Amino acid sequence: MSADLVLSNARVYTVDAARPWADAVAIRGEQIVYVGSGDSDELGALIGSTTETFDLGGRLVIPGMVDAHAHPDWVALSAWHVTLPWTYDVDEILTFVRRYAEEHPREEAPFIYAEYYPSTLFDTDGPKKELIDAYVSDRPVLLQDHSDHCSWVNSKMLELMGVDKDTPLQVVPDDPAPQFVRDADGEPTGWVTEYAWEHFVGAMYEAIGWHPPAEVTPAMLRDVTSFLTSRGVCALWDAIGSEATYAAAAALDARDELNLSYYGSRRFFSLADLPENIAVLREWEKKHGGRHLHLDAMKLFLDGTNEIGTSAVLEPFVVGEEDRGELRMSEDDLAACLLVLNEENLDLHVHLVGDRAFRTACDAVERARSQLGDAWRIQVTLAHCELIDPADMPRVAELGIIVNWSAHWSGGYFSAQSLEWLGQERFDRMYQFNPIIESGGVVCYSSDVITQYEAHRGDPFFGMQVAHTRVDPEFPIYPDHPVREPASAKLSLTDLIKGYTVNGAIQLRLAGRTGSIEAGKLANLAILDKDLFSVPDDDIHAVRPEAVLFEGKIVHGDLGSLERAETS
Ligand SMILES: [Zn+2]
Repeated sequence: MSADLVLSNARVYTVDAARPWADAVAIRGEQIVYVGSGDSDELGALIGSTTETFDLGGRLVIPGMVDAHAHPDWVALSAWHVTLPWTYDVDEILTFVRRYAEEHPREEAPFIYAEYYPSTLFDTDGPKKELIDAYVSDRPVLLQDHSDHCSWVNSKMLELMGVDKDTPLQVVPDDPAPQFVRDADGEPTGWVTEYAWEHFVGAMYEAIGWHPPAEVTPAMLRDVTSFLTSRGVCALWDAIGSEATYAAAAALDARDELNLSYYGSRRFFSLADLPENIAVLREWEKKHGGRHLHLDAMKLFLDGTNEIGTSAVLEPFVVGEEDRGELRMSEDDLAACLLVLNEENLDLHVHLVGDRAFRTACDAVERARSQLGDAWRIQVTLAHCELIDPADMPRVAELGIIVNWSAHWSGGYFSAQSLEWLGQERFDRMYQFNPIIESGGVVCYSSDVITQYEAHRGDPFFGMQVAHTRVDPEFPIYPDHPVREPASAKLSLTDLIKGYTVNGAIQLRLAGRTGSIEAGKLANLAILDKDLFSVPDDDIHAVRPEAVLFEGKIVHGDLGSLERAETS
């Protein structure tokens, strides 16, 4: 049987260790049927009267990529947010907000939600509501900090939410992190951690007679997935989707407009609420799961973030006394959760940032694995892993854990904030994955972009550039020295491509079907306009797929125009 499509005269980087390079690929239906030399008899035998052949003019072809930790619905839902100017001048930020309010009357913008202000703008007491009140007091205002774990609200917002000194200190059972920070009299100051406001905001929306879009529609979701498609992404892992998100993805899939494999999860908080959340995931999978949509993992937050000192660290923060951050689940409970998940055949994805959280997760995996022996079958992915004690790095390979890193954070995106809490020595040890890769551990990459503000940074080529250079072109770590130390932590392009392709596919349990260009796998690939391996490091972010194939179908670009461009 002949092939439908042959791509010839290409530089195919296969990410298949057995044959890293090839110059031709043949595709039949959704599958790759040949990878190898362009003048072999085997390829000749696949070319029939209906086969379309395209000469790629030596262009680089890589496997379709995997964004292994993404929030497409949050990006879509944040289109109404206001983008603040990036400045450390509080007056400039608040003047901008006042001008925005003047230009957008209350009827038009009944609630101003603006992002981001630098997380180091204020001392550890945080910002005060009265500061915003002096600029805008006629309607609720919320300013989000750059770590996205803290909010700064005005008095109007607290008033309309009904939050005052009588509001219980702990707003979520079992979770001490979400809080309205109080002054000495117990009065909320206007500083809010971990989205505590979300639990009270319903009353405010009621009062102002306005609600933000609560649920993502297929069209909103498609705006985000089609951007990822245009950047060569053929599969993503949604780190906390809602049912509406998965319903929207299913609707797009039914219309053949999803154009990527969409894998999702459900969040749980504790050992106690794990079973009920598994039941919800199962129900969603039954209702919405389909050809390209699967819900087969649970998500847990094991700690907070370095930027506000809520990560769980081995040694105390340099700020505060004997404060080692917050571990949101004990090792005992985590090991017990792993037994439950193993029984249910569901994978686990853990948000963790600090070195104590990392060690706790490894200890729990080690314990559960030794208890289960051969019955151990789940995959555990540790996402973020910003600070890891060197002694724990080899444990990734030893325990078969997957590490998931948001490559575009590798420069100065979150810098001074974590430096303040961790101190210089630890700060200079952050974001290091080469020792894990060298010891045989699986590291994959992701965008983890959560708002429209940063959506463009979800482009894997942007991530590759930042991780390869340790320089963030938008947020240089120091104005005079933009490279994040240590230079030895720069990731190689081959490791980055591997992490964005086959290693991401491992996390999604798709490695048998995608992640490399091999006969028998799905025809997921991207044809690039420039050779990633020879463009200057500073131009990696600008590399674009000229065409993307998902399961043999052209979902971005046009192969014919490539060839015309070559011959004209
Ligand atoms: Zn995330």
